[in-house]
Amino acid sequence: MNNKINLAASFAAMPDEQGFFGEYGGQFVPAEMQAIMNDIDAAYKEICQSPEFQSELASLFSDYIGRPSPLFHAQRLSRQLGGAQIYLKREDLNHTGAHKINHCLGEALLAKYMGKTKVIAETGAGQHGVAMATACALVGLPCEIHMGQVDIEKEQPNVVKMKILGCKLVAVTQGTATLKDAVDSAFESYLQDPQNYFYAIGSVVGPHPFPKMVRDFQAVIGKEVKQQCLAKLGQLPDYLVACVGGGCNAIGLFTDFLADASVQCIGVEPAGKGLDTDQHSATLTKGQPGILHGMKCYLLQDEQGQPLPVHSIASGLDYPGVGPQHSYLKDLGRVQYQSVTDQQCLDAFMTLSRVEGIIPALESSHALAWAMAEAAKLSPEQIMVVNVSGRGDKDADYVANYLQL
Ligand SMILES: *Cc1c(COP(=O)(O)O)cnc(C)c1O
Repeated sequence: MNNKINLAASFAAMPDEQGFFGEYGGQFVPAEMQAIMNDIDAAYKEICQSPEFQSELASLFSDYIGRPSPLFHAQRLSRQLGGAQIYLKREDLNHTGAHKINHCLGEALLAKYMGKTKVIAETGAGQHGVAMATACALVGLPCEIHMGQVDIEKEQPNVVKMKILGCKLVAVTQGTATLKDAVDSAFESYLQDPQNYFYAIGSVVGPHPFPKMVRDFQAVIGKEVKQQCLAKLGQLPDYLVACVGGGCNAIGLFTDFLADASVQCIGVEPAGKGLDTDQHSATLTKGQPGILHGMKCYLLQDEQGQPLPVHSIASGLDYPGVGPQHSYLKDLGRVQYQSVTDQQCLDAFMTLSRVEGIIPALESSHALAWAMAEAAKLSPEQIMVVNVSGRGDKDADYVANYLQL
């Protein structure tokens, strides 16, 4: 355990120069693409040192996104559960309604700083697309979003928002016309001119430097939580809980606390219809190390190493891989990864809505479901912070339909 704590002290320096977190991460891409990723890494190092860039980012975080987001004591919920005090980190109150805007703004500013002429991204349910289109409108960069035709038909409100925000929406009809095909299509478009285009990755995944860079932009979440806990409660929290898809809201919450050994960090994955079915997306719970999208990470894969189809009621969580830093933290034992089913997620969605008047995203409801079950077993002196990564407006129709409300 001591060894682990010593390692924790050096977490801030992760990853190494080659982008590895232990054996995970790296740049599993062709040499030509490595050179471009290294340019991005160099530009990122420059902006980290630039006081002007950092102060521009800080003022947009406060005046545009509305940071710091509140830390709310869910008193009725805590009392009802009869255990730990639950505090909600309200990333749902950010402009655009989720945590994604934190790194989208960072990436758009970096693209502009590098003199790129276009930002390209893919989107599944449209959340990353809307956040990216928003950030590009703000900094004045053309934005091209690739989205599967099937998803376009399912996610009309986000499609309309992206159009209003002025981005070019590319409908992808190849293959199954869903996220994976959108990734292929966006990447193909990017390869036409990678010197001038910027591929904006939507989580702490992909080749180095993206897992590091996106983490750094999201780390504001945990920094604020630490200040808020010390100011309000005079102590650190006992538990931090966040859902894990690619893993950016979770690592954003955990980063500032990794060296604080008393703080237990819990990442919650989607168990879908059950861990023993083939309808889940619990990568860290059920996967094995493999290569995906230019990185080494835990992966739900078949015998040939190909990614398996995955399922979650929360479309933002159905990804067969996961961030390399989470893969490393799991092996190290510094973060515990748990899972909850679609049904437990729906129950938590309804409970938070009715007990606190906060409609959470289905993604965030995974973290809430685990927190509600565990808080009940703890004493009322314990503090549990749960990241409400986004608001549930986008999920309201689906849930109402599903539960026949
Ligand atoms: C996209 C999304 C997630 C999952 O992404 P991470 O990279 O795991 O944070 C979680 N919550 C919401 C609201 C999202 O939109």
